[in-house]
Amino acid sequence: AAGIVVAGAGQAGFQLAASLREGGFRDPITLVGDEAALPYQRPPLSKAYLAGKTDQAGLFLRPPGFFAEHAIGHRPSIRAVGVDRAERRLRLSDGASLPYDHLVLATGARNRPLPVPGADLHGVHQLRGLADADALKTEIEAARAIVVVGAGFIGLEFAAVAAARGLPVTVIEAAERPMARAVSAEMGDFFRGAQEGMGVRFAFGAGVTAILGRDGHAAGVALADGRDLVADLVLVGIGVLPNRELAAEAGLPAEDGVRVDAFLATPDPAISAIGDCARFPSPFARGLTPDGTVRIESVQNAIDQGRCLAARLVGKPAVYGALPWFWSDQGPHKLQIAGLSGAGDARVVRGSGNAFSVFRFRDGRLSAVESVDRAGDHMIARRLLAVGTPLTPEQAADPAFDLKALAL
Ligand code: FAD
Repeated sequence: AAGIVVAGAGQAGFQLAASLREGGFRDPITLVGDEAALPYQRPPLSKAYLAGKTDQAGLFLRPPGFFAEHAIGHRPSIRAVGVDRAERRLRLSDGASLPYDHLVLATGARNRPLPVPGADLHGVHQLRGLADADALKTEIEAARAIVVVGAGFIGLEFAAVAAARGLPVTVIEAAERPMARAVSAEMGDFFRGAQEGMGVRFAFGAGVTAILGRDGHAAGVALADGRDLVADLVLVGIGVLPNRELAAEAGLPAEDGVRVDAFLATPDPAISAIGDCARFPSPFARGLTPDGTVRIESVQNAIDQGRCLAARLVGKPAVYGALPWFWSDQGPHKLQIAGLSGAGDARVVRGSGNAFSVFRFRDGRLSAVESVDRAGDHMIARRLLAVGTPLTPEQAADPAFDLKALAL
C-alpha cells in the first residue's frame, strides 16, 4: 500500500501521524515538510524560547528516535509542489513524487507580508518558524530600538519579551486597541495597561507607510500621520494567510482556507485537510460567520483535528466538534480563551483588578470566556461550553453564583 502522505510536518501533521500509529494503522506514513527541523511546537518561539528560557530540544514534539520507532517517515527540507489527483501522487520540490492512498494537507499558514517600501530591509522580521526565532534571538542582542507592527498575540508576546530586556519597544496598531479582533474591549484594555506597565509604548489608529533604511538595514518606521519612529529591529505581526495553494491548484475549493466538511474531508475522498490551513464547519461558529465555517490558528485545533482525522482513517469516523481554546503569555500575565466570540457578542465581567474573566454571549447563549490569570474560570468555561450547559449573563456576573457546581 502507498499509505498516507502528509504535506506539512507541523503540529497537525505530526499529531495525525502519531495518532494513526496509536490507532493501529500499519501502512506507511510519510510527513513531507519544507522546514529542516523535526516537528516542533511554535508557541514558545514568541515566549520561553525567545526569552532564552528553553532550548531547541525543548521545542521538539518528540525526540528523533520516535520516528524510526513508530515507522513514521519524515522528509525534511522538501516542499510539496503539486497534487496529481488522478494518479494519486504528491509532487515534490526535488522532482520526485510520492504515491498516496490518502493525502493530508497540513500546510499551516504563513505570515501576511507588510505591503510597504522597505519591508525587505535587513532588520525587518516575521515570526513563524524556528529559523525566524533564531534570527530574532541573534538580532535582539544588538538592537537598540524596536518597533512591532501589529498588536496581535505574536506582536504583543514579542513586545513583552523585548521590553523585559530593557529595550524601547513601540507597537503600532491600526485598530484602537490591542487584540481587537480576538478579545473584548475590557480584555484588550487590560493588556494595554499591562504592556504599558512593562514599558511598551503604543501607537493606535496608526498605519505604516514605509520602513526607512540606512545602508540596507532598517533605521526607522514612517507612519501615515507623518511621524517617523526610530527602529533598528522591526517585527511584523499582522496576521497570517492559509497555505491553500496545493488544494486550489488541484481544483479543490480553497477560499480563505482548504474547504473541508465536518469530517475534515475535501470533496476528493482521498484528500483531507487539518490545522491552520483548513476551513471547516464548527458548531461553535453558529451565528459567527455567514456559513458557520471557521479557520482556527491554535495548537488545540491542530491537535484535535489530527486526532479526529486519524480516527476516521482507521475506520472510526466522527464529526469534528472539539471546543476551541487558546492561550497567550505576555510578561507575567496569562490570557486564556475558551470558545469563539465575535465583536458583537455581549460581555459580562466576573472578577476584578488584575484577575478577571469576560463572559461572552451570542443570541443569549454563552459563546466564549476570556480569562486573565483566572485559570479556574477557564477550566470551568471549557466544560460549560463543551457540554452546552445553559448559563445566563446574570449568573455569570454574580460573584456568589457557584459556577464550579454548574460545571460538575
Ligand atoms: P504548522 O505548525 O505551521 O505546520 C505547517 C508546516 O507545513 C510548516 O512546517 C510549514 O513550513 C509546512 N509547509 C507549508 N507548506 C508546505 C509545502 N507545500 N510542502 C511542505 N511543507 C509545507 N497557538 C496556541 O494555541 N497558543 C499559542 O500560544 C500560540 N503561540 C504561537 C506563537 C507563534 C510564534 C506562532 C507562529 C504560532 C503560535 N500558535 C499558538 C499557533 C500554533 O502554533 C499553530 O496554530 C499550529 O502550529 C498549527 O499547526 P499546523 O500543523 O496547522 O501548522
